[in-house]
Amino acid sequence: MTKAFTNLINSRVLIPSSSSCETLCNKLVPKKLEVFVWRARRKRLPILMELDKRGIDLHSVRCPLCDGDIETVDHSLILCKEAFDVWCKVFDWWGRGGIPFVNVEDLFLDSGQTNSYTGKSIWQAVIWSCSYLIWKNRNQKVFANKSWNTPMTLNEIQIKSFEWVAKRCKSKSIDWHTWLHNPQVFVA
Ligand SMILES: [Zn+2]
Repeated sequence: MTKAFTNLINSRVLIPSSSSCETLCNKLVPKKLEVFVWRARRKRLPILMELDKRGIDLHSVRCPLCDGDIETVDHSLILCKEAFDVWCKVFDWWGRGGIPFVNVEDLFLDSGQTNSYTGKSIWQAVIWSCSYLIWKNRNQKVFANKSWNTPMTLNEIQIKSFEWVAKRCKSKSIDWHTWLHNPQVFVA
């Protein structure tokens, strides 16, 4: 991406404006994930449809991964078949059934099936990590023409979410083997 184009995107999309939407916090993830969630909920990620709405002339606003629909934030992070495959694998990994959200607002607020405060925070950290890494891999496809790889994306989500959560979680001791094979115990 050229510097001029990056500056254009920053000026049209990423500069914050006042909003009534409250900021979500999660102490188990790095600050950059909270910023990502903040941007996604306020439609401030440089998604093709958002760039188009802001008057940036694009060749196409179709999803660069599947070409099956217009690229909106909900499509890119959840509904795209490539992203959805990743979500199915993440839900399998956590022993959970159908994916309960179709938009990013419900996604970022999903607290899992637990009454435990720490359990909710851990589950939220996992799905925020998943969204963030889907977006990162989408960008690698768009800007570096790196092919999409669902198993590798899942692997990256498992490793990164473990690194982020295990280091920050004070009330539970989280080990890699259990995280990988029986993570439900951490949200019980
Ligand atoms: Zn798509």
